[in-house]
Amino acid sequence: MRIARTPAEVREALASEERPLGLVPTMGALHAGHLALVTRAREECRTVAASIFVNPLQFGPAEDFARYPRAFESDVAALRDAGVALVYAPDVATMYPAGFATAVDPGPVGALYEGALRPGHFRGVATVCVKLFATVAPDRAYFGAKDAQQVAVLRRVVADLDLGLELVVVPTVREADGLALSSRNVYLDPPQRADAPALHRALAAIVDAVRGGETDRERAVACGRAALADADEAYLDVVDPLTFTPLDPLAASGLAIGSVRFGTTRLIDNEPIGEAL
Ligand code: AMP
Repeated sequence: MRIARTPAEVREALASEERPLGLVPTMGALHAGHLALVTRAREECRTVAASIFVNPLQFGPAEDFARYPRAFESDVAALRDAGVALVYAPDVATMYPAGFATAVDPGPVGALYEGALRPGHFRGVATVCVKLFATVAPDRAYFGAKDAQQVAVLRRVVADLDLGLELVVVPTVREADGLALSSRNVYLDPPQRADAPALHRALAAIVDAVRGGETDRERAVACGRAALADADEAYLDVVDPLTFTPLDPLAASGLAIGSVRFGTTRLIDNEPIGEAL
């Protein structure tokens, strides 16, 4: 497995590799959710590349960029064991050299929910992903269903900019109690960790309500809110998974989405009413 630090090194390393080529973009601190993306990519692609880059552009000034977990050595070992051919791990000055000024604005799909709580977040995500796609030139790129609005944004970007690659969405990997794996789960203290599965229970309650015949969005969301008990909700809703706008009337295509704060840590999750994304 090779480690590349610059776009030129990536291109040189991948020039002789077999296609199809799959890319798994990550911010490191890898867990079984990330490795599920690698496993899927290995099943579908002759060559798999992964990136590790904590992208400052997608963090707000008051967010956790500086303390975001970093575990480069163990990440590299896990990716090597998982059969990745190349890790692209640029530093910030390589990704955004002095004078860097271009950005990708994904438009309305990135405006609500995570976009509203994190102004500029999806602009940062879209910009770094377009740069990664331009550098690696993958046939397919693998993303987790857990970050469903990110998937919606990137579908828009790939279509709108004619990027000509396939986005593959991999189901969310969860702990036994339903909590979605996340690099940010390490921030939870034991009582918060004990409370955290309430988010997935709330989403499951919304899905159950709709599958049970509830047709009113606000009543369905209220079922989820009841399951949240006194947890600190940031949002809970049913949306169209392609546009990330509230879905009224409800339909089987809907996606229940939610975000809850446990102390200073805000977690996100989602559950489809019908088939997975
Ligand atoms: P991150 O390192 O948090 O930017 O995540 C890198 C990729 O892993 C993104 O496509 C995430 O959606 C995906 N991912 C994160 N957590 C999970 C999970 N629990 N299950 C599946 N994919 C995940």
